[in-house]
Amino acid sequence: MTDAPSHLFYQSRNPRPFLDRGEGIYLFDETGKRYIDGSSGAMVSNIGHSNPRVLTAMKAQMDKATFGYRLHFRTEPAEALAARTAAMMPDGLDRVFFVSGGSEAVESAVKLARQYALTQGEPQRWKVISRFPSYHGCTLGALALTGYAPLADPFAPMLQEMPRIPAPTTYLDRDNLTEEQRGLKYAETLRDRILTEGPETVLAFIMEPVGGASTGALVAPDSYYGRIREICDTFGILLIYDEVMTGAGRTGRFLAAEHWGITPDIVALSKGFGAGYAPLGATVAGSRIVEPILDAGGFLHGFTYAGNPLACAAGLAVLDELETRGLIANAAAMGALLQARLTVLMERYPFIGDVRGKGLLLAFELVSDRETMAPLPKGLNAHSELVEIAYARGLILYSRRTRGGIEGDHFLVCPPLIVTSAQIDEIMEILTDSLDAFAARFGL
Ligand code: PLP
Repeated sequence: MTDAPSHLFYQSRNPRPFLDRGEGIYLFDETGKRYIDGSSGAMVSNIGHSNPRVLTAMKAQMDKATFGYRLHFRTEPAEALAARTAAMMPDGLDRVFFVSGGSEAVESAVKLARQYALTQGEPQRWKVISRFPSYHGCTLGALALTGYAPLADPFAPMLQEMPRIPAPTTYLDRDNLTEEQRGLKYAETLRDRILTEGPETVLAFIMEPVGGASTGALVAPDSYYGRIREICDTFGILLIYDEVMTGAGRTGRFLAAEHWGITPDIVALSKGFGAGYAPLGATVAGSRIVEPILDAGGFLHGFTYAGNPLACAAGLAVLDELETRGLIANAAAMGALLQARLTVLMERYPFIGDVRGKGLLLAFELVSDRETMAPLPKGLNAHSELVEIAYARGLILYSRRTRGGIEGDHFLVCPPLIVTSAQIDEIMEILTDSLDAFAARFGL
């Protein structure tokens, strides 16, 4: 079956085996081989696979209606999920706009910000500052904000050029500053950029509070977050948190923003929000932003599948599962354990240069020299070699070759939030075996 020619295509030819079924943190292919879903797919399957509560809720909804167009009907699951989501957000983020994925959530956030500026009589505000590196999605609008050249460059003539500031890759810095000073130094790059652009032209600043695939679970020093909020407030610029990967509990709080007590103006959610049970995302903002837009004639934006009752029923059951099983607290506890275990690996493997992250959004980065943090040679193709070695042994990791403007190999280790300490032992066993094989193959 695997070798049959396929009519289907994605980014590239797909040599992977067929998936048969999933159960908890495990996936099984057509031959019965078991894999630990060590990256929750693409940091999506937060409550694991084949969750009975979600499947039951979806089946019940399927028996009633799977689609009702929002211009024709309201639906209970959509209303209930919006109310439930608002209740889990920081105060003031009380209005929810449903979408089907992360790129759509980001596009919606940016268009909402723009329409809000228009209602405020500020049509000159349109620039959205983002960071480099960053990932905000693959549609042309979200890609214009994404700081990752290999994905964006081929489409450059079609993208609205937007200002960028450096992501706070402080782990690469070799200066005499304290962590707090470094955080402030990076935050000031936003202020500088706003002044260069002309504050009256800047609409919003968008950031991943903990980096995802772009920077490999990059966490900024604490001082960064509050200062960024202050700078946005000073210039009347909307702060958009892209919590597509970090949201819905992945970092050990419902939103990563909660770790620093920040209330963004707009939040983009997806991935763990539908947790792989349905294509689902949301753009969440306060009534102070939404009401003037509705008063002025409405939000000029919307996707056909948005808020469909089947996806919303799944989303509601996902939130039930997170709450009733205490999975967000489990993400914090198991994340701390896994991060400690990964950090111990640095004693055994000199080529691990950094371990970082929050909750169960964790990564390690490979280097050729820990002192200088010089990356491994590109020709080694480490990011894909180690992934393949682990995959063969039944552990799925997620990797990228990118960091602070130069190349480097990082690996995300992000199992579902239901993971237990015994399962972390299993992950570490296969990972250690894989790193041994990797070191032996490349003489490291
Ligand atoms: N924003 C962030 C932070 C992401 O990690 C992603 C996907 O990886 C997206 C946006 C885009 O989401 P999607 O692939 O669902 O469009």
